[in-house]
Amino acid sequence: MLETVHHLILHVVFILFTILLFQMFARESELGPKGFNLQFLAMNMVIVVFTMVFPVVYSSGYVYDFKVVPVILAFIYGGKRAGYAMVIVLLAFSFLTGHVFDNLLVNYAIYSLLLIPFSKWYRKAEWKKKLLMITLFYLLVPGTRAIFLLLKGMLEQLPLLLSSTVVIWLTLLISIYLIENRLEQARIKKELIKAEKFNVVSQLAASVAHEIRNPMTTVRGFMQLLQGEGLSKEQKTFIKISIQELDRAQEVINQYLSLAKPQTEEYEVFSLSEAMSESVEVMSTYAVMNSIEIKKDIEEGLMGKGLKIEIQQVFINILKNAIEAIKENGEIMAAAARNKDGQIVITIKDNGAGMPPEQLKVLGSPYYSTKEKGTGLGLTVCYQIVKRMKGEIIVKSELGNGTTFTIILPGTCSGQGGQVR
Ligand code: ADP
Ligand code: MG
Repeated sequence: MLETVHHLILHVVFILFTILLFQMFARESELGPKGFNLQFLAMNMVIVVFTMVFPVVYSSGYVYDFKVVPVILAFIYGGKRAGYAMVIVLLAFSFLTGHVFDNLLVNYAIYSLLLIPFSKWYRKAEWKKKLLMITLFYLLVPGTRAIFLLLKGMLEQLPLLLSSTVVIWLTLLISIYLIENRLEQARIKKELIKAEKFNVVSQLAASVAHEIRNPMTTVRGFMQLLQGEGLSKEQKTFIKISIQELDRAQEVINQYLSLAKPQTEEYEVFSLSEAMSESVEVMSTYAVMNSIEIKKDIEEGLMGKGLKIEIQQVFINILKNAIEAIKENGEIMAAAARNKDGQIVITIKDNGAGMPPEQLKVLGSPYYSTKEKGTGLGLTVCYQIVKRMKGEIIVKSELGNGTTFTIILPGTCSGQGGQVR
C-alpha cells in the first residue's frame, strides 16, 4: 500500500515538474493556442514515456498510468497534429514494449476522434468553464469503466478505480492551471509592451509636435502678409499652396496632440445629441462639395460623459472618412439612439468603397492609411477617445457596399435632457 502511495506521488510530482520546466523555458512566441509547438510536444512525450515505463501498481495487481493526461494536454493545447503525434508515440511505445496493444489502439482511436471537436470547443471557453469541461470529458472513461465493473459485479476494483480517477483528475486540473497561467502571463506581457510602446510614441510625438507648431504659425503669418504684395499670378498660387500645405501639417499635428492628451482631464456631462448634430452640420458643407448627402436621425436629449470637443472629433473623423470613401452619388446616414440597456448607440453608415476583412483587422493602428494624403491617425484618435469614454467602436464593412461604424457609449443618467418617458 505504502509503495503504491510512493509511486503515485512520484508520478504526480513528475508530471507537474515537467510542466514547470516547460513554463520556465517555453518561448512566448510559441505559446499559441493552436499549432505545433515542439517544446510542448516534447514535454508531453517525456511524460507519456515515463508514465508507461513506471505504471502505478496497486498491491492487488491493479495497474494504471497517467498517459491520458499528456494526451489530453497535447490535443487541447498543442492542436490536432500534436495530439496525433502523441497517440502515435504512445501506441508505438506500447507495441515495442509489449503492452496491451489492441485495447489501446481502439481506445485511443475513439479518444482522439472525440478530442478533436472537444478541443475546438474547449479553446473558446472561459477559464472556469474549461475546468468544468475537462472534468466532464475526463470522467467519460472512468465513468464507463465503473459502469462496466458494476455490471460485471467486480466491486472490489471500484475503490481502486475511484482513487486513481481522483488523482489523475487532480493532476489534470493542476496541469491545466499551470499552462493557462503561463498563457495568461504571455498575453498580459504582450499587451503591456504594446501599451508601453504606444505611450512612448505618443509622448514623444506630443513634445515634437508642440515644438513644430510655433515656428509654423510664424511662417504661415508671413506667407499671408506676402500674399498682399504685387506678385505675379504664379507666385500667388505658390503661396496659396504653401499655406494649404502648412494647414494640412497643422491638422496632422493637432491629431497627434489629441492622441497624447493627458488622461486626467475633467470629464463633464454634455448633450451628445447636440454634439453630434453640430458635427454633422460642420461636415455637411464638405459633403455637399463632393455631392454627398448626410441624413441624420438623432434622438433628442442623449447625454454623454466625457469631453464634448473630443467626441466631436470622433464624429468628424468618421464622417470625413465616410465622405472620402464615396466616389459618387453617395449617401451617409448618421443616427443615434438609446438601446434597451440604456447605452447610446451611434451609427454612421456610408455606401462607399468598403473594406476587405484584412483591412478591418488593422483599422485603428497608427499611420495605417490607404490614402495618398492620409495621415492614418484619424481612427487611432477615435479609438482612443471612445475607449477613454468607456465605449467601443464596432466596424462592419463589405467591399463595394459600404461601411458602418457603430459607437456604443455608456448611458448617462445625470443629464436632465428630455429623455423618452
Ligand atoms: P486616413 O483617413 O488619414 O487615411 P484614418 O485613420 O482616418 O486615416 O483611416 C484609416 C484607413 O481606414 C483609411 O485610409 C481607409 O482606407 C480606411 N477607412 C476608414 N473609414 C473608412 C470608410 N468609411 N470606408 C472605407 N474605408 C475606410
Ligand atoms: Mg481619416
